[in-house]
Amino acid sequence: MENKAYRGHVLALPYPRQGHINPLLQFSKRLVSKGLKATVATTLFIHNTMQLPSSSSLQFDTISDGYDEGGFAQAGSIHAYLNRMETIGSKTLADLIIKNKNTANPIDCIIYDPFLPWALEVAKKFGIFGAAFFTQTCAVNFIYYHVHRGLLKLPITSTPISIPGLPVLELEDMPSFISVPGSCPAYFEMVLNQFSNSDKADAVLVNTFYELEPEAVDSMSKVCQLLPIGPTIPSFYLDKRPEHDNDYGLNLFVSDSSVCKNWLNTKPEGSVIYLSFGSMASLSNKQMEELAFALKGSKFHFLWVVMASEEEKLPEKFVEEIGNKGLVVQWCSQLEVLSNKAIGCFLTHCGWNSTLEALSLGVPMVGMPQWTDQTTNAKYFWDVWKVGVRAKVSKNGIVEREEIEFCIKEVMEGERGKDFQKNAKKWMDLAVKAVSEGGSSDKNIDEFVAKFINS
Ligand code: UDP
Repeated sequence: MENKAYRGHVLALPYPRQGHINPLLQFSKRLVSKGLKATVATTLFIHNTMQLPSSSSLQFDTISDGYDEGGFAQAGSIHAYLNRMETIGSKTLADLIIKNKNTANPIDCIIYDPFLPWALEVAKKFGIFGAAFFTQTCAVNFIYYHVHRGLLKLPITSTPISIPGLPVLELEDMPSFISVPGSCPAYFEMVLNQFSNSDKADAVLVNTFYELEPEAVDSMSKVCQLLPIGPTIPSFYLDKRPEHDNDYGLNLFVSDSSVCKNWLNTKPEGSVIYLSFGSMASLSNKQMEELAFALKGSKFHFLWVVMASEEEKLPEKFVEEIGNKGLVVQWCSQLEVLSNKAIGCFLTHCGWNSTLEALSLGVPMVGMPQWTDQTTNAKYFWDVWKVGVRAKVSKNGIVEREEIEFCIKEVMEGERGKDFQKNAKKWMDLAVKAVSEGGSSDKNIDEFVAKFINS
């Protein structure tokens, strides 16, 4: 029987992908530091296949997505996965709530990723406080909100596009589901469905911080009361509260962090380009080749994350030929790498977690967005936050080696590079301030906790 007195018990339900687990897990740790008990529910498949942190302030439990043996890969299609997860997930989430019902700490709040809007229906059925946790920027959410409510008609026939609180957007700045109609209908439906019942949520949390996109937050707040609570990265890299929190702790992929650290520690300050395309990377062979040749041709060192599924796309003998100039790994501890003094710039796919991590650690970027919200994130970081450049895509849909080399040089040693560094430092300070005691996100977290405790 538990005897610790908690202020409440939250159940966090992330969408089962690395980029969605990380922020909700991290947010849960913040809630624990505010006196709550937090349980993170992963799918059974994830629970059985990955190493859960051995010591954590969090509890872990499971629901089922209906694919306990193979997870997403077992489903065959996104549509099949989402449908089955809704059916089986709703049932097993209800079971989890019931299991906790007659304990000392029954679940009294569910924080769910709105990629899984059915979780709110389950919470309501049990009379539990339900909070949506949006993992993308407020700007991106507001674009989808406009489409969902029919305020932005598709296909877009005239540009530029004006949405209140957002910079003027060209088609290439819009999320790919909009700029490339029909490109991924199941995912598009999913991001729009985030708003299918969000007006019934008791709270709406967003993984951003007010100072990053004040106009977008103010504008969206007129139609939906939202609380920016980010950045959700381990506190070691921000305000050091909670203590001893230097890793997300739940990795879907294995890495040996000493390999990167030892290699980086032999390199001069600001001399290394770090490249990663996130956890769902799938570049064309031609794009991989252009990247490889650009890196070979540039004078800088590089550390490149090439996931196991991408390795065969590297040019033959690439790894042997680069010698000590570069290091290619299948996965790394990205925060540890980004915070290493040797890193001079981050060539990124502009996934929101990666972008927010680079902003929070003051690292300038070269953006090579691929799809989904990455294009809009890229627009913000070069045009609004001014911390880097977006590489231009040529007519054949590829970023060519000359362009990659040019962008890298621009950020690493060009005139504008100094401004990017200055701005990156400014955002880093603001990120720390936002989550520190009395900062904008910290206050919003307190407001959220008070709201559900008093509900
Ligand atoms: N990441 C990591 N090691 C790597 C590559 C990525 O730890 O080698 C982490 C990164 O820190 C981030 C997440 O994986 O938290 C990727 O999320 P993001 O939103 O940037 O991209 P996605 O994977 O969703 O496309």
